[in-house]
Amino acid sequence: MKGIIFDIDGTLMVDDKVLDGAIEVIEKINKQKIPFCFVTNTTEVSTQHLFENLLNKGFIVRKEQIITPIVIAKKILNSKGVKSIQICYSEDLKQEFSEYEFNEKPEVVIISDDGTGLTNSQINQIFQYFQTGSELIVLQNTKYYKKEGKLVVDLGFYSAGFEYITGKKIQSCGKPSKLLFDFALQQMRLSKSEDVYMVGDDIEFDILGSQKLGFKGFLVKTGKYFAGIENQFNDKPFQIIESVKNLLDIF
Ligand SMILES: [Mg+2]
Repeated sequence: MKGIIFDIDGTLMVDDKVLDGAIEVIEKINKQKIPFCFVTNTTEVSTQHLFENLLNKGFIVRKEQIITPIVIAKKILNSKGVKSIQICYSEDLKQEFSEYEFNEKPEVVIISDDGTGLTNSQINQIFQYFQTGSELIVLQNTKYYKKEGKLVVDLGFYSAGFEYITGKKIQSCGKPSKLLFDFALQQMRLSKSEDVYMVGDDIEFDILGSQKLGFKGFLVKTGKYFAGIENQFNDKPFQIIESVKNLLDIF
């Protein structure tokens, strides 16, 4: 095995509680000196906030091992030479983009949220920005995630809505974008996805999305997983396991 990528929410933690065996798996991989990183589509808080939370929960991790769609968003902004933006809407994320100017005629609007979704007036403000020439991108377009025992809609709900009303494809900076997975490889100092594993609870974005790029997916039955979801897809995960704890026997 050359490297391992872990999803966080639903895989290592659910509702901010660490799942059984998660810390031990990371400990074991650290001891074996296998390169690993965390690739999350969680965007409601800053990377610093995520990092501190993982440390407080007992994970041994360096900040550069946490990869979020924010780094990809910046790559996209910089490649377009963008200077002015808006983050619609997460106050916590603004500090991550402090090198950009925030104004009322932004070149790019980054659709995001603080974990509580967008209100109708926020949705319409984004639509106004679009009508006055702003390009819309979305931090990630996950369909749903598990919160307090229920599946709830994620940003994919809004990006699909904006694609529908604008007739334009909205670029996502999150999993399963190739940009993000390539960056993960780079962070692990690997050049190829061959013999690199992805562990996650989202069959589409974590598992089948990464497998299209050559990774091998371990689908965990925690988080957003529900019985039989694997039958909705033609492609199959490399392996389905009960939870991250099973990796203690596999790795
Ligand atoms: Mg997840």
